[in-house]
Amino acid sequence: MSHAIYLPETKFQVALRTATKLLTLIARQGENKMTNYKPETKLAQLGNRSDKVTGAIATPIHLSTTFSHPAFKESTGYDYTRTASPTRDILEQGLAELEEGKRAVVTSSGMAAIQLVLNHFPNNSKFLASRDLYGGSFRYFDYLETQGIATFSYFSDEESFLELINDEIDAIFLETPTNPLMNVMDIEWVTDKAKKHGALLIVDNTFLTPLRQKPLTLGADIVIHSGTKYLSGHNDILAGVVVTNDEELGEKLYWISNTTGPTLSSFDCWLFIRSLKTLPLRFAQQEKNAKKIVEVLKKSEKIKDVLYVGVGAMISFRVQDEKKIGDFLSKLKLVTFAESLGGIETLVTYPTTQTHADIPEKVRESYGLTPDLLRLSVGIENVDDIACDLLQALEESV
Ligand SMILES: *Cc1c(COP(=O)(O)O)cnc(C)c1O
Repeated sequence: MSHAIYLPETKFQVALRTATKLLTLIARQGENKMTNYKPETKLAQLGNRSDKVTGAIATPIHLSTTFSHPAFKESTGYDYTRTASPTRDILEQGLAELEEGKRAVVTSSGMAAIQLVLNHFPNNSKFLASRDLYGGSFRYFDYLETQGIATFSYFSDEESFLELINDEIDAIFLETPTNPLMNVMDIEWVTDKAKKHGALLIVDNTFLTPLRQKPLTLGADIVIHSGTKYLSGHNDILAGVVVTNDEELGEKLYWISNTTGPTLSSFDCWLFIRSLKTLPLRFAQQEKNAKKIVEVLKKSEKIKDVLYVGVGAMISFRVQDEKKIGDFLSKLKLVTFAESLGGIETLVTYPTTQTHADIPEKVRESYGLTPDLLRLSVGIENVDDIACDLLQALEESV
């Protein structure tokens, strides 16, 4: 029934725009199809050959919010920037290919991407979500629940998932690995259960990026990202990504985005494209550094526990004495105490008072998000410098 407003009103417009845009794209990029290249190649080349007029290698930033029509009832494929922008198109195509999806929609933040996806579901939909979850996602789900818009139940492992899944569930929202406890669930396993009960599977793939995990190829229906994190990777833009391999769902998500307007600006799209070109290099260095830091932390007697999934560059650890955490953070000289993750600078976060502060203390502690836990996002600096800084701060405090 939510389709009643969606389809009849815009079917013609959507068809017309899709057709003209397709023709423009075929004319522009036909001979340069990038489908057979490896991700590193596709990303390094993203946007190259897109401007036939000037041959610009760096993608032009189209700041114009509106586009002139060649004639009555004609369009260049671009009318108004909320609907489509040439710069955003290149970014969305690149991201869709990277996740092996058919359609990507970029948004102004990761939370806007999550909101866009949940907007697809009618009121009173029922969701199953990972218990350990980015604090902002929990806050949003909790808000929807208190507003009487949707209901959520939370699973922490396969066992609790099986207890909660049933035919009433409309969608599953999965983080794997989870933030910050690094719990992992097998996406194919979850897909299998979701399909049996007719639920859609949404995966937040922020932590591993499509370089290490492609949920759509494992059966997920929708992938979301905080593009603010690894994908853009320089702590200088806020962005979100939604990708799906279902054409119809992709068209609907795009329609919602055009209707509600969580659009990413052309300037930020350009910066995102530029950042994506070095994603494989950045991620490889961050991951290599993280593996060494895990070894260093494991040897420290000031640390109780190191949580690392063996892939990626996110590490969480528990210190022996949580009362000295403030002291430890103030003794760091290189590693920066800040929110966020995935950027080239190494950051340390204290989830209890920062990213996860909005999850009630009792709930947090019930699933292991205890006040002795710190989260580390390893950057691209020389790993010895990162290790020395962490060790000196640990030595002098915790
Ligand atoms: C940061 C983050 C988000 C939210 O993204 P924003 O870009 O900050 O809005 C969602 N999920 C995960 C796993 C995150 O780390």
